[in-house]
Parts: sequence; C-alpha cells; structure tokens
Amino acid sequence: MTRVAFLGLGHMGLPMAVNLVKAGHEVHGFDLVPAAINAATAAGIPIASSGADAVAEADVVITMFPAGRHVIAAYQDELLAAAKPGTLFIESSTIAVDEARTAHELAIAAGHRNVDAPVSGGVVGAENGTLAFMVGGSDADFAAALPLLEAMGKRIVHCGGPGLGQAAKVCNNMVLAISQIAVAEAFVLGERLGLEHQALFDVVSQASGQCWAITTNCPVPGPVPTSPANRDYQPGFAGALMAKDLGLALQAIEGTGTDAKMGRLAQELYAAFAAGEGGHRDFSGIITDIRDAD
Ligand code: NAD
Repeated sequence: MTRVAFLGLGHMGLPMAVNLVKAGHEVHGFDLVPAAINAATAAGIPIASSGADAVAEADVVITMFPAGRHVIAAYQDELLAAAKPGTLFIESSTIAVDEARTAHELAIAAGHRNVDAPVSGGVVGAENGTLAFMVGGSDADFAAALPLLEAMGKRIVHCGGPGLGQAAKVCNNMVLAISQIAVAEAFVLGERLGLEHQALFDVVSQASGQCWAITTNCPVPGPVPTSPANRDYQPGFAGALMAKDLGLALQAIEGTGTDAKMGRLAQELYAAFAAGEGGHRDFSGIITDIRDAD
C-alpha cells in the first residue's frame, strides 16, 4: 500500500483517485473547488485542508490540473516545500513539454523525484481504469510509478526522459487531429461526388486510409453506431480539449522549428471550431464546418 496525495479531483482526477483506493492504496485528496471536494467526499476520498496538508505525509503526489501554469504555481507555492524529501511527484495533467521539464527541474531541485505521465482515454478510460499513460522520467522513477499507473490504466509506455511523456502526447494528438480532418474532408468530397457514406466507409476502413478517426470516431452517422456523429456530436473528446492540445503542439512545433504545416493548419482549424459551439461538441463535428464552408 502506498500513501498517495491526489490533487485535482475534476472530471479525470476523481475517477483516477477512486481506482487507486480500489487497488488498496491510501489516498488523501485536495481540490480548490467545493463541488469537486463534495463529489470526492461522496466517493469516499478523505479530503485534506490544503494541498500542503495533503502532501505532507505522502509517498507519492499525483497532480491532475487543467494546465501547466496551475502545476508550476502549485509546485512552487506549496507542494514541493511541504512534501517529505524524496517524494515521487507524478504529473498527469496535459501540459507543454517545456512546462513539464520546468516542473521536473523544480521537483529535483527541491530534493524530490518526478515523472510526467499524461493520459489518453478520457473520462470513460479514467472511470474504467483503462487509461493510456505516456511517461517521461528516469528508469527508476518510472519503475516506482508503474504500480500506481497500473491501478489507473491499461497501457503504460515509458517514452524516455523528462518531458517525453508530454512529447508523445502532443505528437499523438497532432496525428489524431490531422487524420480526423482528413476523414471529414473525404466524406464531404464523397457526398459531392455522389458516394454513399457506407460505401466510402467500407472501402477506407479496410484500405490504406484506415485510421481510428474513421473506424472508431467515424464523423458521419451510420457506419459506426457508437461514434459521436450518431448522437449529434456529444463528446467524446470535446473540441475545446483538442484545441488546447493543438495549442501545446504548436508551442512544441515553434520551439523546435519543425516544418509541420499540417499540424499548424489543424491547430488553426480546431481553434476556430472550438471558438464556437464546437468547444462543447465532439471534435469529429468539424465535418459540419467543412460541409457548410463556402
Ligand atoms: P477539470 O477542470 O475537470 O479538473 C481539474 C481540477 O483541478 C479542477 O477541479 C480544479 O479545481 C483543480 N485544481 C486546479 N488547481 C488546483 C490546485 N492548485 N490544487 C488542487 N486542485 C486544483 O479537468 P479534467 O477534465 O479533469 O482534466 C485534467 C487534465 O487532464 C487536463 O490537463 C486535461 O487536458 C487532461 N485530460 C483531460 C481529458 C478529458 O477527457 N477530460 C482527457 C485526457 C487528458
């Protein structure tokens, strides 16, 4: 049994914390928002009086915050100083690669250990304990984090040193965004050429254009009955979250001087999609923008 402080008990953090309790770990939680605290209390997670209080006796601290600025502020303002020397900090929020490296350096300078371990799989994956974790950090710290990650996820990949978990996450989501746009464009083009959705699906899903964006997240209703297109694009993976992740990809593209034209364009298209109603809709709903464009 490991004593875990779990900070950030929102949509993702609370079900992840619940799975740690189910696996037999002692979890003490904290969140800034009363609604999150109430939901966590109802789920049986004891709540500390502050972040510092939650981490004081912990062996491992897991953070699941909205963005990098929250992580760095919490590390600097209270968590690193309040934790016992050598505490393992597992940072699971989706943040920029540079921010993950800054958080890592701050943790090491304060005498702690740190891995970045962002996730994919969404709220359903968090609830079912089937998240994918992409981990950056040393071999020893990865090994120490692994039993806890296994209690919350199904596929856990050690991607390399500090920040490389976040690097894998932005690269994956850039592929996902580009392929979802490509599939949407193909369906709209097919419609204009007189091609039935099912016929295009039957070809592409078994041919060289095959990808998750068509076989699982098919952007037209019918061929994949579980895809968000069949429920008026209720997420799923909301456009706002895709736009956030592509913002992090753009930061990485610019920081490395990479010639990623498709990644830049996907970031622009999803920023526009998320600025409207698309922010709350599944990101496959971008097909509507493509169909409606002049
Ligand atoms: P959320 O907004 O529901 O939860 C974040 C929680 O962190 C909030 O309850 C907030 O009050 C809390 N928080 C912020 N600063 C804090 C602090 N200093 N101390 C304690 N609590 C603090 O967000 P979410 O949907 O759970 O996502 C969390 C992270 O996971 C984000 O980085 C997101 O990009 C990533 N992510 C989300 C999904 C998804 O489907 N929701 C999927 C993959 C990754």
